[in-house]
Amino acid sequence: MDFSPSPQARQWHQRLQAFMDRYLLPYNAAWHQSVKNGEFPPPFMGDLQALAQEEGLWNLFLPGLRPGEPGSGLSHLDYAPLAETMGRLPWAAEVFNCNAPDSGNMELLHRFANETQQARWLAPLLRGEIRSAFAMSEPDVASSDPTNLQTTLRADGDDWVLNGRKWFITGAAHPHCKLLIVMCKNEGPTGLDGQEAGPAWTAGQDAHHQHSMVLVPLDTPGVEVLRNIPVVHHLAPEGHCEILLRQVRIPKDHLLGAWGQGFAMAQARLGPGRVHHCMRTIGQCELALEMATERALERSVFGKHLSDQSNVQDWLAESRLEIDQARLLVLKTAWMLDLGDAPPAELRAQVSGIKVVAARLQTRVVDRAMQVFGAMGLSPDTPLAYFWTWGRAMHLMDGPDEVHLRTLARYELHKARERMGHTTAYFTTPEQMRAVPHVSA
Ligand SMILES: Cc1cc2nc3c(=O)[nH]c(=O)nc-3n(C[C@H](O)[C@H](O)[C@H](O)COP(=O)(O)OP(=O)(O)OC[C@H]3O[C@@H](n4cnc5c(N)ncnc54)[C@H](O)[C@@H]3O)c2cc1C
Repeated sequence: MDFSPSPQARQWHQRLQAFMDRYLLPYNAAWHQSVKNGEFPPPFMGDLQALAQEEGLWNLFLPGLRPGEPGSGLSHLDYAPLAETMGRLPWAAEVFNCNAPDSGNMELLHRFANETQQARWLAPLLRGEIRSAFAMSEPDVASSDPTNLQTTLRADGDDWVLNGRKWFITGAAHPHCKLLIVMCKNEGPTGLDGQEAGPAWTAGQDAHHQHSMVLVPLDTPGVEVLRNIPVVHHLAPEGHCEILLRQVRIPKDHLLGAWGQGFAMAQARLGPGRVHHCMRTIGQCELALEMATERALERSVFGKHLSDQSNVQDWLAESRLEIDQARLLVLKTAWMLDLGDAPPAELRAQVSGIKVVAARLQTRVVDRAMQVFGAMGLSPDTPLAYFWTWGRAMHLMDGPDEVHLRTLARYELHKARERMGHTTAYFTTPEQMRAVPHVSA
């Protein structure tokens, strides 16, 4: 394993860093002021995006780009340090068309949408002309377990009809959001040639084949964005929204992929997306540590700089160790995704692992930095309070930590079952001592 950046990745990184220093950081305060004034996206966003596109810093996350599609085609491993750098400024990813949830949705459409669907939705997303959202979670059921999801999808003549309620749907309040990718529970037969429901739609059948995904234009009658839910009192301008779907009627060709394949597609969507999230987290933690160390060097208490207090030194050192460990784990995951030869169960466990590690990292490292900053660390004057809020949300987003730990544990138990008994060779029980053969010198 060699995780040192390739010469090409180094170049991309230098270009991205230079672009951020030159064009984005000078606009940071203006971005926040604009959002505060209710202007979102800020008036300069379009110009910055055009500039990024001109410089080729566009769709950096999508390795499988086809000829003619705009973007760089970088590998996951080469993209990772770029995501880390973008993470330092939470609104930066959108400038480069690399922001969640659009990046995950583009990946999904890239893999599973047919030509007509790609022309209608993927092409404008790749050009950054529209935004999208991914609607899975529901208020009325424990959405950690997606087999619970209840929003129904039923065939009615040439159409599908949807009914249900979704919430915490990121991106749905963005004024450019035009598309909802909705996970629904199949109800009744499809009436589609070649995609007959078979037994999967019948209640009691395999719980992992009872859901499908559909492409729902946001302006379809019956789709109602009810509210943008604040997260720990932080109101994201792009939104984490509650959405009502009441008798929503869409044509049959809006089914994404095959009937009953919703679960498999959701799994495929989350792999690379989690690497991106984790690398952006690591960028934020790195910035928090930089801020804490600088603050510790300049702030004095009881006649000593904070940097001379041993507990502060411990916090800084622990943060450095944790960030570096997490980065190596995430880079290993990116490398595994690029190689593409890991067994699916191993890859799933790996991706679950980085999700937990990154969420824990963010709340711990940022919490320490907030403590070093004193009251200022809790104010909106530094990015720390937002970083902490985001870290807290990460313990739930894309599934809570406990579900990911369960995936990891199940994989370990599976491996143990395969090799059962092998570790007893390391025991030194009395029975084994008695069975020791005579060893002559
Ligand atoms: C900021 C933010 C953005 C989000 N964006 C989106 C989005 O864009 N689209 C979308 O569809 N959803 C989104 N979500 C929702 C998120 O995916 C869900 O909150 C998450 O999957 C958990 O579901 P739940 O809230 O229903 O918790 P529940 O399923 O009710 O779980 C409650 C708690 O039960 C515990 N638990 C669950 N399973 C286990 C287990 N196996 N073992 C032990 N304990 C367990 C966990 O502690 C968990 O926190 C977002 C959430 C947040 C906070």
